[in-house]
Amino acid sequence: RGGRKKPRRFMLKLSGEAFAGRGALGVDPDVVHAIAREIAAVVRDGAQIAVVIGGGNFFRGAELQQRGMDRARSDYMGMLGTVMNCLALQDFLEKEGVDCRVQTAITMGQVAEPYIPLRAVRHLEKGRVVIFGAGMGMPYFSTDTTAAQRALEIDAQALLMGKNGVDGVYDSDPKTNPGAVKFDALEYSEVIAGDLRVADMTAITLCQDNKLPILVFELLTEGNIARAVNGEKIGTLVSD
Ligand code: UDP
Repeated sequence: RGGRKKPRRFMLKLSGEAFAGRGALGVDPDVVHAIAREIAAVVRDGAQIAVVIGGGNFFRGAELQQRGMDRARSDYMGMLGTVMNCLALQDFLEKEGVDCRVQTAITMGQVAEPYIPLRAVRHLEKGRVVIFGAGMGMPYFSTDTTAAQRALEIDAQALLMGKNGVDGVYDSDPKTNPGAVKFDALEYSEVIAGDLRVADMTAITLCQDNKLPILVFELLTEGNIARAVNGEKIGTLVSD
């Protein structure tokens, strides 16, 4: 329809580890509540928000594999872990008065809708948050790649990667090297050539091939989700 502004639609990738809060495992409701409050605020402000949450607070397939488990089976455990994060966030979003649907790539009708892209877009248009659970439903993939793929399929304008304990992309690990230098902006090719740990390479190349900008930012700094959505200069922007 002529003249109508394209909606501001974003894919928010949330670190699973952040959901654990101070506990080593599982979900810290206080953290999830704080994140839900911030998402609710940007939704009330008119942004359309889709969410993918990692599962690192429960299981990572590669780590279970190192302990002797079959990789594919442990990846399925990883995917199932992400669904618990989705349900926790859904709960707190609804407590904030924001309608929310969870769609999972592994069907589990009692707790979530199946992944139906066109339906996800309808939810977003109605002001609902859509949370995509269970990754891609396929072993050997990551939730970063899921976030990139879903962002493309629902036509999000950017992938906002909320990290736990790091405020952008550095030339070396800021946790071990106090002299590490933060980048304000990077090209996809620099991320790949420098093997900079923005996301896994499958996710990066998918974004590069389809020119989907990625903003890497610190998730748990209060107000940062709104800053990311509003295009303020925080974190590191990865683009062409
Ligand atoms: N996973 C998978 N396929 C997917 C998404 C996730 O197999 O499409 C599994 C994989 O084992 C991964 C785990 O789910 O280690 C948790 O996701 P991820 O490691 O991406 O979580 P994060 O590190 O972002 O918290």
